[in-house]
Amino acid sequence: MLIFDKSVEGRRAVTLPECDVKEYSFDKKYLRETPAVLPEVAEVDLVRHYIGLSRKCVGVDNVFYPLGSCTMKYNPKLNEVIARNPAFTNLHPLQPESTVQGALEVMYETQKILAEITGMDEISLEPAAGAHGEYTSLQIIRKYHLSRGDGKRNKIIVPDSAHGTNPASAAMCGFEIINVKSDKRGNVDIKALKESVGDDTAALMLTNPNTLGLLDEHILKITSVVHKAGGLVYYDGANLNAVMGVIRPGDLGFDVVHLNLHKTFSTPHGGGGPGSGAIGCKKKLVQFMPDPAVVRVRNRYRFAERENSIGKVKAFYGNFLVVLRAYAYLLTLGKEGIREASENAVLNANYLRVLLEPYFKTAYSRTCMHEFVLSLEKFHDETGVSAMDVAKALIDKGIHPPTMYFPLIVHEALMFEPTETESRETLEACRDVMREIYEEAKSNPDAVKACPASTPISRPDEVLAARKPKVRKQ
Ligand SMILES: *Cc1c(COP(=O)(O)O)cnc(C)c1O
Repeated sequence: MLIFDKSVEGRRAVTLPECDVKEYSFDKKYLRETPAVLPEVAEVDLVRHYIGLSRKCVGVDNVFYPLGSCTMKYNPKLNEVIARNPAFTNLHPLQPESTVQGALEVMYETQKILAEITGMDEISLEPAAGAHGEYTSLQIIRKYHLSRGDGKRNKIIVPDSAHGTNPASAAMCGFEIINVKSDKRGNVDIKALKESVGDDTAALMLTNPNTLGLLDEHILKITSVVHKAGGLVYYDGANLNAVMGVIRPGDLGFDVVHLNLHKTFSTPHGGGGPGSGAIGCKKKLVQFMPDPAVVRVRNRYRFAERENSIGKVKAFYGNFLVVLRAYAYLLTLGKEGIREASENAVLNANYLRVLLEPYFKTAYSRTCMHEFVLSLEKFHDETGVSAMDVAKALIDKGIHPPTMYFPLIVHEALMFEPTETESRETLEACRDVMREIYEEAKSNPDAVKACPASTPISRPDEVLAARKPKVRKQ
């Protein structure tokens, strides 16, 4: 039911004082011909309507939400309070620098801390999401090679476990994509990598830990193989939640990184933004980074142009309030807290992995980082119940589904990322629910295949629902 359906003519949620100024008569050409159709409801009905809608929403604030590769972590409410402060929200991006010193300081200090965490020399907070950070970085990589008169590096190497945005960003930048396969332990296959690199390699894009939740066991070898061929190495930092404060991409040989501040550093996401895909570069790439830089000159903060910048990639200075939340998060946790968050994320993932092992097998049997991937291929063969069916059954039992059918190299994949804030009790409750589904799949598979029953609609056609949504009243 829409709020319009609850409308009763003349009913009001507010009482305004009598108007004590003369009514102004606008020229007719500025007036609408018929009054706007607006819902007329009392405050109590208004509140019930929207609270009712919010209860249908499934999010990290009401259920366990182990969506892997997305880091749907619980974000402290303190950071929301800070990001709502009118001192920040009322700023105008065209205000003179002298009047926004506080905001510039937030950006400058966030850059400094993120540079330390990633082991990079400079950070730009401009890109609006991870994919945007990839695109921006690839433009930088291209400009770097061209500036050295190295015009034939037109290939980007991407492992088969990569997130889809990696090859998509490379294609958007006009690069050719070369896929390298993973080995039996879920690492980049070194032999395949060696065969792929050459004097046409612009860069390798790598997520580490990768989208299987596994830390590559040959990372130093990988970055050195690419460097020896004259290519650069790009770090997709979407999985930084596993390693922040523990290892630094810059120390592993990466030249450029993107971070998803909305994943790792405390901005609620999942509804499509706003986000921040901050990027970091090693010294040799800094001159090509987006304009403007935020710099400090004798205790004053200001914007500065870079010598050989690729230009601007976003209006003004990125999504500032996402950066502000990240800054608040970084300061609240501090150096030790950041590391501890990662350690707990890894501990929680391994605990849940081991709890589920008697029922569901992991695709790669080794210690995981912050997430792990189950393969239900055999289970599906035996019971007819697919990874999709299990995901749908979880909804009825009050758990948001994990990531399904990703990464593509694992068949019948379910990828769990519990994150650092979940308690032991929540993880054990998840095990109990997964065991119930497992048992039901063995005894009554049709019941599992009929889930979910608790949602307004049960199983829409996933593709049609996304491509041609029918937005209509229920
Ligand atoms: C989420 C994600 C991205 C893309 O980031 P967005 O902020 O969604 O654009 C890229 N790579 C990996 C591994 C991711 O998980």
